[in-house]
Amino acid sequence: MSEILPRCHGCGAAAGEVHDRVCDVARCRATGLQWVTCAHTAASSVPHERDVWTGRWPGEEDCERLGWYVCLEPGRGWVPCDATDAGAEPDLNRLFAEAVWDAPSGHWVPKS
Ligand SMILES: [Zn+2]
Ligand SMILES: [Zn+2]
Repeated sequence: MSEILPRCHGCGAAAGEVHDRVCDVARCRATGLQWVTCAHTAASSVPHERDVWTGRWPGEEDCERLGWYVCLEPGRGWVPCDATDAGAEPDLNRLFAEAVWDAPSGHWVPKS
């Protein structure tokens, strides 16, 4: 299940603090992608800055809002499921495949 983490696993930032420059958990506010691997060249309405640690793994809250979850089923692998199912995990793969980063709001939104 998704959990609240008081401090970032990558850099130790507390909730509400900006990640360290070398933190691999930090996401770029302009692209929603990993900050350390972002080329920071894509045109964007918000600057290419590191985001803040929210206490949640990046993308988890978006999966929660969209109701996108998967469960590991023996012999089948990860299959879509409901948030209330046992072992439900946020479906981050679906998020990156079927949603686009909305920089002004800082959320992933479904492709229209
Ligand atoms: Zn961090
Ligand atoms: Zn960037």
